[in-house]
Amino acid sequence: MTGVSVDDSFGPALGEASRLAERWLDGVRDGSIPATATIDQVKDALGRSIQDRGDDATTVLRRMGDAIEPGLLRMHSPRFHGWVIGGAHPVALAADWLVSAWDQNATLRTVTPGVVAAEELAGEWIVELLGLPPAAEAGFVTGATMANFVGIVTARDHVLREAGWDVAADGLSGGPRVRFVAGAERHGSLDEAGRFAGLGAAQLVDADDEGRMRVDALRETLAEGDGPTIVCLQAGNVHSGAFDPIADAVEVAHAAGAWVHIDGAFGLWAAASPRLRHLTEGMAAADSWATDAHKTLNVPYDCGIAIVAHPELLHASFAQHAAYLTATEVGSDPNDRVPELSRRARGVPAYAALAQLGRHGVAELVERLADAADELRARLSELPEVRILNDVVFTQVCATFGSDERTRAVTGELARDGVAFGSPSHWHGRDVLRFSVSNWLTDRAEARRTAAAVADALTRIP
Ligand SMILES: *Cc1c(COP(=O)(O)O)cnc(C)c1O
Repeated sequence: MTGVSVDDSFGPALGEASRLAERWLDGVRDGSIPATATIDQVKDALGRSIQDRGDDATTVLRRMGDAIEPGLLRMHSPRFHGWVIGGAHPVALAADWLVSAWDQNATLRTVTPGVVAAEELAGEWIVELLGLPPAAEAGFVTGATMANFVGIVTARDHVLREAGWDVAADGLSGGPRVRFVAGAERHGSLDEAGRFAGLGAAQLVDADDEGRMRVDALRETLAEGDGPTIVCLQAGNVHSGAFDPIADAVEVAHAAGAWVHIDGAFGLWAAASPRLRHLTEGMAAADSWATDAHKTLNVPYDCGIAIVAHPELLHASFAQHAAYLTATEVGSDPNDRVPELSRRARGVPAYAALAQLGRHGVAELVERLADAADELRARLSELPEVRILNDVVFTQVCATFGSDERTRAVTGELARDGVAFGSPSHWHGRDVLRFSVSNWLTDRAEARRTAAAVADALTRIP
């Protein structure tokens, strides 16, 4: 071995990272949105093959900043409306850095009480802000996809247990079939949860024009069979922002003995606003909920939250019982609530965001996003040939511009221009340009700038 040394001081590396981060973040408000480098260009700039002898930390980081930054999409822009993507409050981003610096394996409550305390408070505060039952317990996972998975697996194990079948001991083969029911416009992550959980494809319930599950159709579907049943509702449709008629649907599902899970990746947060809470009415009566902190709450990636009304059922499905993991009498461990064992304390940045915003700040954040979506709807509506396909009740706006071809052209032109960004989708048989208002910096003024960029793009379309 030739002498390869690794600098043991953190200062230079962190100083360089901080400088590069500030350079990138300086462009939050006005930087051009699209990435300008391709994957091949970035790989060339990073160096294609591993060197015999590496470089010092600051050289590596500087090269990364210079090579990777041109390949970044400015998802944190207040005029970035693609998919459903939040930005990051400075306090949450900074707290996320601390999580890395502290580098705790946030698995067992007694060994790392510091981050467990912050995560537990964040979980309790979220349960309170969303008006969920105080006994409900939150686990911090990577996103709503995993939060849906946690809810569905907990539900599956419980409804089968009630039917006299122990999945943990006997697996799924030979057991009663679980009826897995979801709305026609459920998010794809629920299909994935069904596959992960061995439930197969969901039985779909008709939706109305806004994509909301029809309660009469749910009642009919449930009346057609019996046995262990899981019903998945949605709080916030990615195209329309619409909420299923939750109160009525929960009542119908519970009357049929079903477990009710609600996917509210971005929409659950409507419950934190006195003005918008009505959209989620009745949701506290459900059994499990999935949401994200990296969408509406604007915590950096990744942070999702699985919430279950009955903690003992969550632990029954997710706790690992190994001799080397000392169980405690005093409460559940973080790993009892999530699929992972070793895990990042990803709930800590959520604590930071909530601590800075407070109850009113969270309500104002959610209302600001909804107001900006309404402004966008109003301004876009003034443009020629535009049609807003959805009733804008929350944070999503779906637009068409004449033919599908023309809508696609506007979508492409807007993206090229770089001032604002919406993502293409297909909804109710039409190509659409989707705008999701999910960034903490987006207000009515920014929504007007987005609409102006769309108007500008239109002038360049034949
Ligand atoms: C984003 C989203 C998901 C998936 O969440 P991830 O955080 O991307 O895993 C699930 N459901 C809905 C309604 C969503 O908007």
